[in-house]
Amino acid sequence: MRILITLALVGLMAACTPTSEPASKARTGFTAVRSAESGLAAYSRVSRRMEPLVEQVCRSLHANKPKTFCDFQINVINDPKQPPNAFQSLGRDGRPVISFNINMLRSFNNDDELAFVFGHEAGHQIAQHIEKSQANALVGAVIGGLLVAVAGGDAQVGVDIGGSIGGRSYSKKFELQADTIAAHITDRSGYNPKLGAKIYERTSGSSALLATHPPSSERIARVSTTLAQIDAGKARGRRPPISW
Ligand SMILES: [Zn+2]
Repeated sequence: MRILITLALVGLMAACTPTSEPASKARTGFTAVRSAESGLAAYSRVSRRMEPLVEQVCRSLHANKPKTFCDFQINVINDPKQPPNAFQSLGRDGRPVISFNINMLRSFNNDDELAFVFGHEAGHQIAQHIEKSQANALVGAVIGGLLVAVAGGDAQVGVDIGGSIGGRSYSKKFELQADTIAAHITDRSGYNPKLGAKIYERTSGSSALLATHPPSSERIARVSTTLAQIDAGKARGRRPPISW
């Protein structure tokens, strides 16, 4: 019974891992490039164009899901003390929620970057990352528990360690998948995904961030590869389907 409760907790905690974006930017040299008013105006402008598009893309890929699955809610967390952050979560009603905090909005150089991050967060929902990371954390937890039990150790400790390893090793992969989807969606939106991905040139790469976040160079490379595939498809007269 005790192990069952721990497994459930590990699953819930892991849900936060792939959905939280780099939270250490403030420590790594965050400087606002625009006022809160200007950031909020950009947010309204970009959301008006992006929200219907991500919902349409989501529905085309998840025709069998309930209607709420692609019914995005977008909101701003107006707390100036929080370091720049954007993330996707699930509301109590099951709808996906994309949140930007105010310092994130103040750190965008242009609408292309805002659109790209919007597409990235929508990508986490489209690729069902919350659901999958909960499943992965459970698998990791079970394997960790078994390994320690076989070695004659304390199974309870093993469950915790295994769970956190399972959650971490998958979320880096998920970040790159969300970047791939972001490149596709931003391209379809008419914003410029190449300019949008430049946001990663300003986030410090591997050193300061947790292992769950791929280095910026890896993310920029992934976006370039995806855009090359999209361009090759367009040159042949057909935009490639969104895959990740
Ligand atoms: Zn992400």
